Amino acid sequence: MRNRLLLAWVMSILCIGIGAFQTEAATLPVQSVLQQQEVVKIQGDWLFFENELYDGLEPPEIYERGKRVTIPQEFEAITGNVNGYGTYVTQIEIPASYKGQVLAIRSPYQYSAMALYVNGERIATSGQVGRTEAEHVTMLESQTGYFKVEESVITIAIQISSFAHIRGGLANPLFIGEASLVDRQFQQQVYFIIVLLGIILAVGILTLIIGLLRREEKAFLAFSLFCFSIVVRTLMTVPFIYRLLPIDISYVTATKLEYIATCLTAMFYVWFIYYLYRDLFKRSVVVFNSVILATIVLITLFTQPLFFQQVFFILGVSQFIVVMYIAFVFRNALKYRRRFIIPNCIGVAITLGGMITDYLSGVGIINVFPMTLFCLTINVIIVIMSIANRYAQQFTETAQLNEELVQMNSTLDETIRQRTAELSKANERLHKQAMYDSLTGIYNRQYLNDTLPFIFNEAKTKQEPFSIMMFDLDEFKKYNDFYGHLEGDAILQKVTQIVAAQLPDDIIFVRYGGEEFILLMPNYTREQAYAIAEHLRGIVHETQLVHEGRMQGYVTISGGVATLADKYETPRALIEAADQALYTAKRSGRNKVYMTT
Ligand code: GH3
Ligand code: MG
Ligand code: MG
Repeated sequence: MRNRLLLAWVMSILCIGIGAFQTEAATLPVQSVLQQQEVVKIQGDWLFFENELYDGLEPPEIYERGKRVTIPQEFEAITGNVNGYGTYVTQIEIPASYKGQVLAIRSPYQYSAMALYVNGERIATSGQVGRTEAEHVTMLESQTGYFKVEESVITIAIQISSFAHIRGGLANPLFIGEASLVDRQFQQQVYFIIVLLGIILAVGILTLIIGLLRREEKAFLAFSLFCFSIVVRTLMTVPFIYRLLPIDISYVTATKLEYIATCLTAMFYVWFIYYLYRDLFKRSVVVFNSVILATIVLITLFTQPLFFQQVFFILGVSQFIVVMYIAFVFRNALKYRRRFIIPNCIGVAITLGGMITDYLSGVGIINVFPMTLFCLTINVIIVIMSIANRYAQQFTETAQLNEELVQMNSTLDETIRQRTAELSKANERLHKQAMYDSLTGIYNRQYLNDTLPFIFNEAKTKQEPFSIMMFDLDEFKKYNDFYGHLEGDAILQKVTQIVAAQLPDDIIFVRYGGEEFILLMPNYTREQAYAIAEHLRGIVHETQLVHEGRMQGYVTISGGVATLADKYETPRALIEAADQALYTAKRSGRNKVYMTT
């Protein structure tokens, strides 16, 4: 009896349990996510039908077979298999205010094929949902479906199939809202990314040009390749702008490009830092990193996503070592105050900040707009600004240097002018020294040697008269002996002045040596010359320069005159004749003038 009661109780409990389960499973979950005028995530409870493709209009009995899930939820968490196919179904309550309006549901992307149904009608597809791998086509893209609100509750069914991805199923949330709002949100996101890409592309082109013009600066080429890789990578990832381009790129190609571009971005950045701080950066690290990344690139090129994605995450671990090494290089570059190190540090810090923000956003701790690309763009701008700044500085320095050089040149010109003037003065002095006698200021013997042949030959050719006089101070040795050499010099100057004062301009007065002088008298006949000579002797005598060292008591001169008319062949012969006459004058008692006969 007691046992029966217990059995009945157990049975009734079971029945209630089953009944409760049945009622629950036989209805679709209903949620009212859409309250205000905004675009919201569709989350909450759904039913999942494994290996069944529904459009949401099936009779309620089949709901029993559904599994309650929350989305986004990948296949693996529901079925234990990464790949497969099935349908997610739910109902959404639409506020009355939306009646008659067009709403939109957007799936930013799934790693699978997807077909979206509202009230049994397919409103969006991405790739091709299939029951077998052959029927299925994966597509990574943003898809939006539109529908007009006619009832207060709508049924949404999402068919998903996945056969070649590590994250099959409905892996990412969907959004619902007024059609224009949903569209605008998507467009804003796309435009923003396109603007950022435009900036990065422009910097890439700029650094490419600088790099090509300055081949020795390989850092710029590396940086431009880094920029181009970012651009390619960004086109291939959320929100999959490549799908908006007029070229048809398959999911596999796009994924390959994304992974390859990611590797190249890392590789070129390391090259950039390496070429920037070459002496602080071990070459072996660059080689090691490039080999690993090139290996991933090659594997990516020749294998399918499921394989190369795993390789990427395994070999990618090496990047932690490289990142640590770059941090070490940055520390040293900071220590030695290397070029661009401050902007590089700021740029990297900003980029890291963006990545951390996106990570926290991804795991649901915070909820912000994707930041990495934006921060990376700022990093790129900082780098190009510091390059531009450096070039501007160098340009200014060059201009200053140029100005200084011009200034130096002009002062050099001035110095040269001064020196040239000084030199020509010195030259003049030298010239004078060469021509004139330093003691008396009249012509010297060198001048006589240079000039006499000309005058002699000219007079001879033209048969014009030409006479010379040679004179010598009488008993001058005694003057020196009596008064000393300095006084002797003074009397030599005095006699010269007395004689010079008497001479017409056309007579050339030369100190021949010691106390002997010669007068060149072009156009003077024998008689005229003699008259001059006699006059000079008389003047010196009459001046009565005291000479106590000799009997006569005064300074006198003796002279000899010779003339070309006597047919001398050479200047030397003419001088010898005058000397001879002078000698005769001396012999005959001094203070006399003699002529050759
Ligand atoms: P004479 O009447 O025969 O010419 O007798 P002199 O003493 O004048 O002739 P001598 O040739 O014996 O001596 C010339 C002297 O002139 C010798 C030298 O001391 C002096 N003498 C030559 N050149 C200079 C000079 O530049 N300055 C001075 N102070 N003396 C000079
Ligand atoms: Mg003499
Ligand atoms: Mg003498």
